[in-house]
Amino acid sequence: MPRKLFVTTALPYANGSFHIGHIMEYIQADIWVRFQRMLGNSVHFVCADDAHGAPIMLKAEAEGVTPQQLVGRIGAERNKYLDGFHLGFDNWHSTDSPENTELSQDIYRKLKAAGLIYTKPVEQFYDPVKGMFLADRYIKGECPKCGAKDQFGDACEHCSSVYTPTDLGNPYSTLSGAAPELKISEHYFFRLSDAKCVDFLKQWVNEPGRLQSQVANKAKEWLDGKEDKALGDWDISRDAPYFGIPIPDAPGKYFYVWLDAPVGYLASFKHYCAKKGIDFEGVLADPQTEQIHFIGKDIIYFHTLFWPAMLKFAGRPYKVPDHIYVHGFITVSGEKMSKSRGTGISPLRYLEIGMNPEWLRYYIAAKLNANVEDLDFNPDDFVARVNSDLIGKYINIASRAAGFISKHFNGDLGSFGKNEGQRTTAGPVLAVWGEETAIREAYEQREFGKVIRDAMRLADRINEYFDKCKPWELAKHADNPERKAELQLVCANCIWGFQVLTVYLAPIIPSVARAVFSKFFGIDKSVSWDDHRNLVDRVLPYQHLMQRVDPGQLDALFDLPPAAPAKEQKEVTETSKNGSHSRSAATSSPSTPHPASPGPAAPAAAAAAISIDDFAKIDLRIAKIVKAEHVDGADKLLKLTLDIGTEQRTVFAGIKSAYDPATLEGRLTVMVANLAPRKMKFGLSQGMVLAASGEATGIYLLAPDSGARPGMKVK
Ligand SMILES: [Zn+2]
Repeated sequence: MPRKLFVTTALPYANGSFHIGHIMEYIQADIWVRFQRMLGNSVHFVCADDAHGAPIMLKAEAEGVTPQQLVGRIGAERNKYLDGFHLGFDNWHSTDSPENTELSQDIYRKLKAAGLIYTKPVEQFYDPVKGMFLADRYIKGECPKCGAKDQFGDACEHCSSVYTPTDLGNPYSTLSGAAPELKISEHYFFRLSDAKCVDFLKQWVNEPGRLQSQVANKAKEWLDGKEDKALGDWDISRDAPYFGIPIPDAPGKYFYVWLDAPVGYLASFKHYCAKKGIDFEGVLADPQTEQIHFIGKDIIYFHTLFWPAMLKFAGRPYKVPDHIYVHGFITVSGEKMSKSRGTGISPLRYLEIGMNPEWLRYYIAAKLNANVEDLDFNPDDFVARVNSDLIGKYINIASRAAGFISKHFNGDLGSFGKNEGQRTTAGPVLAVWGEETAIREAYEQREFGKVIRDAMRLADRINEYFDKCKPWELAKHADNPERKAELQLVCANCIWGFQVLTVYLAPIIPSVARAVFSKFFGIDKSVSWDDHRNLVDRVLPYQHLMQRVDPGQLDALFDLPPAAPAKEQKEVTETSKNGSHSRSAATSSPSTPHPASPGPAAPAAAAAAISIDDFAKIDLRIAKIVKAEHVDGADKLLKLTLDIGTEQRTVFAGIKSAYDPATLEGRLTVMVANLAPRKMKFGLSQGMVLAASGEATGIYLLAPDSGARPGMKVK
């Protein structure tokens, strides 16, 4: 009986482009989904943009567009990434949609009818400067549990405690910096602490095999929390102005974005069902349907408590999730990057500079397992695994064996040895077949690293067989019918082994697998798991299947996009070679294009006029240099630790020729605080300091007048 699967990935927030963390999650889920489809299982695989909430509202306001326009713009670029990385979603929708409004309001009404919704007045932070209640994430302060500074208003990134913004010590509005005022507003609550919710969740969480053990343990900690740690009710409303879904019969009240976001899984599916004529409610109501969500470890709380409880007590047609599959974060060269600051690798740049998407799929798969572990993108490791393993071991089999078959046998592989009964231990195909169950189970368990280890071990075995049999020697005696038959069998064995490996790797490198079947075997079909059994009879002349990575492409991936006009080009190139992020020497020149808009080069003499809104996009801040250090191996750079009031930043600045680091410590300067962080040879640079320079030598760091304090905005 084929399984019926409904699979989603977490909804990306629609205030920006995908970063490498999104792509990693989609690759993980896509591999699993492709594997299920190859087995003949039915999979509905959907996702959507998470469109609501204060960040998008405020960002749209800052850009002078409507939230819908902003979300539309972000949504329009999604396909470039999804197609580019072979991510086979059936549907991509938005939470700002009629389906999501209908479903969210329906779930709410059903929860209300079940007695799980109530209202109560809440003292909430209000930003007197912005004139609005502050969403949790616009308030920062000290964690009430561990005291960590600069924690958001809903959860501590340091100790994972969950709390409300009013619990924070020394709160401030991150929108205006103002100390927020407490104001009373009527809020809507989901009664998560209700005994029936808690009992249900305990049973749901403890169901064997439902959650990874680390995830189940985390959820149990929350569920078993005593007294001050006990599970609280969930505040699901926000006051206008808010970009969201109106709460029925509650003027001026909207669902908190986290209520309608996961409903977006269902909304996207419903939208898809309508297009395809599938019975949406029928699929959900079918007890055979398995509902599975792939998510990152930062949103376990929402997916193991609120979401299953919402679905459970909303009742039919909704079903509770069968599994939540949680992954860790991706780091780059060992550096953890925060969600808000991006991750140092631009997936779009990866595609634009012509890097093969299947290299990344292969590399990420090689590092993924079923645990909630972070994985690291290491450029050298990436090159080694793609070139030595994927191409050197796997692709190599086909390119080595195919020539003999084409030249001496006109592509015919012969039939001797094709059937299991005729095989001796000499041929490697039996060994490759022998791992089928292990590889299938590894896929099912999301142990993709094991799949690749097993596959590469088998590729080694095939290559050893090839080397041992020395077909190039056999070919010298091809006039002898026995030698010639042996040559055919040896090469056929290798190609059959390659065929079986291709099927095993197809969920990870689907486009290569398809090309192997169509261009090499002359069979134009989507590859199914059963294709590992039906060994082919002949091959077409070998064509290149995959290029090696040029390590220069990794340099390009981490490099700055070309931005400066001819005169400054050299300077920029030199500094970036040294790993310098600081274009300060060049960008302070009045003729240099805007540092925040590295678009096509503009003529030096004619910097275009910009509007005040363009200027306002640059977040210039007073920064205190709390630490200045030499950087080992860097000719031009100093490493600066900058205090901008709310946090500390590391910036690499090309000012070594002009300053002794000791003289810089304690000084104030001006930094660009919202420049996208750059991964450099020496570490992550999180901004840029401003300095003056001209035709003559010398670099002059800017400094504010006395009285300025770290964190003040410069405008
Ligand atoms: Zn904490």
